[in-house]
Amino acid sequence: MVNKFLKNYLFEKFREFGSYLILIFLVLLSIIVISYHENFKKNQINSLERILDNTYFQKTLLSISKTLNPRFEKIVYLIESGESFETILNKLEIQKVEKKAILDHIINEKIKFNIYENQKITFEIDNLTKKKIKKIIIPINKKKDLIFTNNENNSYDTKILTKELRLISVYKENLIKNSLYASAIDKNINPNIIIQFAQIYGFEVDFQRDIRKNDSFQIVFEEYKNDENKTIDFGNIVYANLILKGRSLELYYFNSDKEKINDHFDPSGQSIKKTLMKTPINGARLSSSYGMRKHPILGYNKMHQGTDFAAPLGTPIMASGSGVVIKAGWCGGGGNCVKIKHNKTYSTVYAHMSKFAKGIKKGVRVAQGQIIGFVGSTGMSTGPHLHYEVIRNGKKINSQTLKLPSGKKLTGELREDFELAKIKIDVLKSELIDKQN
Ligand SMILES: [Zn+2]
Repeated sequence: MVNKFLKNYLFEKFREFGSYLILIFLVLLSIIVISYHENFKKNQINSLERILDNTYFQKTLLSISKTLNPRFEKIVYLIESGESFETILNKLEIQKVEKKAILDHIINEKIKFNIYENQKITFEIDNLTKKKIKKIIIPINKKKDLIFTNNENNSYDTKILTKELRLISVYKENLIKNSLYASAIDKNINPNIIIQFAQIYGFEVDFQRDIRKNDSFQIVFEEYKNDENKTIDFGNIVYANLILKGRSLELYYFNSDKEKINDHFDPSGQSIKKTLMKTPINGARLSSSYGMRKHPILGYNKMHQGTDFAAPLGTPIMASGSGVVIKAGWCGGGGNCVKIKHNKTYSTVYAHMSKFAKGIKKGVRVAQGQIIGFVGSTGMSTGPHLHYEVIRNGKKINSQTLKLPSGKKLTGELREDFELAKIKIDVLKSELIDKQN
C-alpha cells in the first residue's frame, strides 16, 4: 500500500518535473558535447601547428604566398639534363606572345649561348596583370652573365655583364707532416693554389727528398669572390715561404707591365726560375735515382738513365720546362711517353704515363709547369711511377744533380720597384696574420 502510494507519488512528481529533467539532461549533454568539441578543436589546432612547423610545408606556404603577393617575382631555374632554352620557357606560366618575343629576339639578333645541366637561369617576372618577363639572366661563365631585358613593348635588349668580383688576400700556414699536398689540403687550400705553389718551388725543391718532418710553409694568395661570397677564381700567390730544416726560402710576387715581368723573386731580387724543374710532379716519392741498379723487371744490373718518382695512378705530370712536344706516343718499354725539346741543348722524357693530357701531341708548344699527362704503369713497369729523363746534347744526364743557370736578377730601377712591392707584401702579410689572431 505504502509502496503503491510512493510509486504514484513519484510518477506524479515526474510528470510535474519531467520537462525540467529533460532540460537538465539536455544542458548536461550540451556541456559534454561542447567540452568534447573544445577538446577536439584544441587537438586540431595542435596538429595544425605541427603541420605549420614542418619546414617543407612552410616552404610550400612561402612559395604560395610569394606567388600570390608581390608584384615582382624572381625564379631561379635549375636546368635539367637535356633541356633547351625553349623547353624551359614552356615551363614558365607566361603568355605565348611573350615566349615568341624572346625566341624571335634570340634568332633575329643571332645570339648564341650554351646552357648546361645544373646551371641556374634567373627569370625576373612582373605579376602586375599577366605574368610578364622583365629580365632573364644566363651565366656564360664564372665571370660573365648574358642578360635579356624586356622593354615595355616586348622588345628585348641584350647585354653581357661582368659579374662584380672582390679580390681578397688569404694567409695560410701549416707544418708539413706527410706531404706538402696533404698539409695544404688540411688547411683548406685549393688544389690549384697548391699546384701553383709546387710549381714556383719546383726548380729549387725536390718535394720528396728535401722535405722533412716539421718543415713548414706560409702562403699569401689572392681569391676572387662573387656577391654570394663564393670563391670564383684565384689570383696570384703574392708571397710564399717554405721553411726547410729551419731555413726560409721566401718568395715575393713581382710584376712590371713595362718590362713584361710576372714572376716570383727571392728577397734579393733573384728569380727562382730555371730552364728545367727538378721535380715535374707534385707529391711524388723519388723511388729510384739515376745510376747503376738491379732492374726491377729484367733482373740484371743496368744503368738507370733517369729518375723514377712513385706517385698514385693519375697524378698530373708537368712539362719541366717550356718547349715543343717532339713525341707523344708509345715508346715500347717506356709505355706511353712524352718527349719535349726545350732548346738546342736540353730535352726531357716522361715515361709510363696512363694517358696524355688533352691536346698533347707532336708539334705542340707547351709551357713550363703545363700538365702533359698522368702517372701510369704502361710499358715495362712494376707499378705507377714517372720515369723522368733529362737529355743534354743528346746524352742522358742526372736531373737531380743538374746545375742549371739561374734566372733573372732584378737591378736598377726594377730592383727599387721590387723593394717597394716587397714592403707592401710584408705589411699585407702581417695584417692578415694579425686578423687571424
Ligand atoms: Zn725509370
